[in-house]
Amino acid sequence: MKKLTVKDVELKGKRVFIRVDFNVPLENGRVTDDKRIVETIPTIKYVIEQGGKTILASHLGRPKGKAVDKFRLNPVAERLSELLDKPVRKLDDCIGDEVEKAVSEMKPGDVVLLENLRFHEQEEANDEHFAGALAKLADIYVNDAFGTAHRAHASTHGITKFVHTCVAGFLMGKEIEYFSRILNDPDRPFVTILGGAKVSDKIGAIHSLMDKADKFLVGGGMAYTFLRAMGHKIGNSLVETDKLNVALEAMDKAKRLRKGFVLPVDHVIGDKLSEDANIRVTDGIDIDDGWMGLDIGPKTIELFRRELTGAGTVVWNGPLGAFEMKPFAAGTRSIARFVADSGAVSVMGGGDTAAAMAEFGLAEKMSHVSTGGGASLEILEGKKLPGVEALSDR
Ligand code: AMP
Repeated sequence: MKKLTVKDVELKGKRVFIRVDFNVPLENGRVTDDKRIVETIPTIKYVIEQGGKTILASHLGRPKGKAVDKFRLNPVAERLSELLDKPVRKLDDCIGDEVEKAVSEMKPGDVVLLENLRFHEQEEANDEHFAGALAKLADIYVNDAFGTAHRAHASTHGITKFVHTCVAGFLMGKEIEYFSRILNDPDRPFVTILGGAKVSDKIGAIHSLMDKADKFLVGGGMAYTFLRAMGHKIGNSLVETDKLNVALEAMDKAKRLRKGFVLPVDHVIGDKLSEDANIRVTDGIDIDDGWMGLDIGPKTIELFRRELTGAGTVVWNGPLGAFEMKPFAAGTRSIARFVADSGAVSVMGGGDTAAAMAEFGLAEKMSHVSTGGGASLEILEGKKLPGVEALSDR
């Protein structure tokens, strides 16, 4: 790994400012899904064990630069305190005299949680003064928030100009390691599975991965733009009519570079996007008017399995159907099970893909389920993430 991690630096007695992603769902003042908090525990525990003073900073929701009570981090502090089995002092702001005073009173092993960074509009504007004010709280900066690493904000980017030592936390380290491995030295054959709603979200990744992956399996709503571009009937399926050329170009490029580009050959169709839709399975590729393609069909599942047999690396972004609804989940579920049992290095990216793997109980069986949706797509697009670039080189 090119970047320093929290293991590479002396933490004893230091104020360790950790940017985490505690953007968790809340209901009636309680955290309803603590996955993101749980994932940062190894880094926080490590800092505590090493005798560092932990100062945690996160955003939550979209308060648009103002203090909004429902976006306060108090419920997060409560849950974190339970998980760490020790007190977590929650402050009412993230910068200013009172915050600095509270931090100056900290003892080694103490944990403080700052208030929502996005109560200040300067956070997302990557404002220098605000970044400098955050930096006043830090001897060492740790970024463990991969999900926001594609954004150059004050707490993910600006702050690193004012703190000498900036390192990756364990969660961030794992993300960087898996993505560098698949992009720089993948076990082959390298198969990319792409799904989800829109071609426009994934086209950058398709082009960038064209040089690296050996084969593309495309399903989900985005497949219909490709099928339509090829002249197939797609009924009322999702389509981006302004992306037909883009779709054709991508398929031409795959042909030129001799990369497999595999589209569905049958579909589970419904007369509406709903659990109680009338449902059928098509014989072939074409879909009649009045029907929508909502999952890959059984022949496509077989085809995708064959194409995945023997894969060394599988990178997957976007579900293969409207998996949130039971009648349209089988495609994503069977391919996920096949990948999980295949022995390939399997890297899942994107919020919906991660949610699907969790729902099928398969997340633990994959090599890596990324915590970043936008960030993982940008890495696959070949872009540098500002939050990662800003960390200190080894
Ligand atoms: P994305 O955020 O682009 O990865 O898209 C994920 C969403 O696409 C999920 O909510 C799926 O339900 C939806 N989706 C996947 N396949 C289809 C499809 N064939 N028709 C409609 N929606 C779909």
